Amino acid sequence: MAEAERLGTRVVRAARSLPSGAGEPVVPALVQSVAFDHASAAEQDAIFGNERPGYVYGRYGTPTAAALGSALAAIEGTEAAVTFASGMAAIHAYFTGCALRDGGRIVAQEDVYGAVRAMLERLRREQAADVVFVDPTDHAAVAAALDSAPTRVLHVESISNPLLRVTDVAALAALAHDRGAVLAVDATFASPAVTRPREHGADVVIHSLTKYINGHGDVMGGVVCGSADVAAEMRDRAIIDGGYLPPHEAWLILRGMRTLELRLRRQCESALLVARHLAAHPKVARVHYPGLPSHPQHALAARQFGGRYGGVVSFVLRSDTKEAAFRFLDALDLIASATTLGDLYSEVLYPAISSHRRIDPRERARLGISDGLLRLSVGIEDPADLITELDRALATV
Ligand code: PLP
Repeated sequence: MAEAERLGTRVVRAARSLPSGAGEPVVPALVQSVAFDHASAAEQDAIFGNERPGYVYGRYGTPTAAALGSALAAIEGTEAAVTFASGMAAIHAYFTGCALRDGGRIVAQEDVYGAVRAMLERLRREQAADVVFVDPTDHAAVAAALDSAPTRVLHVESISNPLLRVTDVAALAALAHDRGAVLAVDATFASPAVTRPREHGADVVIHSLTKYINGHGDVMGGVVCGSADVAAEMRDRAIIDGGYLPPHEAWLILRGMRTLELRLRRQCESALLVARHLAAHPKVARVHYPGLPSHPQHALAARQFGGRYGGVVSFVLRSDTKEAAFRFLDALDLIASATTLGDLYSEVLYPAISSHRRIDPRERARLGISDGLLRLSVGIEDPADLITELDRALATV
């Protein structure tokens, strides 16, 4: 038959699969295919019907994204994990698909990442979602919020953005479980190289893969790690709502993830040096870093994180104003003034104009996110150069 095919057919049909031969690729394949051909319609039917595993269409899952999901589930110690196009897409899928579905209620950390707070406030406003905010370090307040109405999910961050407050995952899991709720932890800031919340009793672990897990500042992604039931619902959300992670992104994140532990080892060591240096600097009023004994949850962090405290350091300029913060940012050269964290490169973010811009300024001030607060994500550069750069920028303030 093939001999009879004309050029127009041959150029379309040629090399649809790789030549077979001995030798396993060391690097997993990037399967950049939206469509999947099947030996029979019955096979396709069984896959669509979830009666057997397989692939049918990009949004339903691809081998490369499935490989990343399996790797993340293994790392976080959950039954399964479903990847999304961004951290926000993953969080939205979890909130709407599991936490709030059919009248569920969320008790959430009051100082979650600004866009997550904005999402919850919008769900409350536009969809009458039952969401309350609480200080997760005040366990009596958490218990009271959980007791005030049946709650499905308690949602916190293992290290919060940008104040680096540390939540006691084991204690919060017990509070939630005693009341029939589940504990979901956004572990983006800590990364699995610092802490794995499932080991402390959390039920669901969420990451922005854009940050430490990829680590190279070139891809966005998100993941929800949890039980097989949670994963089935998450997969359905990706299929229907369309927030799936494309294969090339999944492949790049898998590649970035291989060096997670190495990167974090260096970043945590450097962050501690930088935090100590800033704490003694006359132009700095306050440093937020769980590795400093002055941090309110230092003892908890030491216990829960096993000797690492993360790669992010937040600090407040003594001159606690927007002008001072702008002067500092404009003086940066080696360190990028950029809206992200968790990369190989050091980056400073100014929360008041970026991540927490949508939060009402009075609420921002109440949470402690003042005009002079800056957030530094420490990269893998030599820490001595970072300290020289920080001193130079602080001298201009
Ligand atoms: N969760 C936390 C703690 C974050 O810091 C971020 C982003 O900064 C997100 C979620 C959202 O992730 P993404 O930017 O990948 O949508």
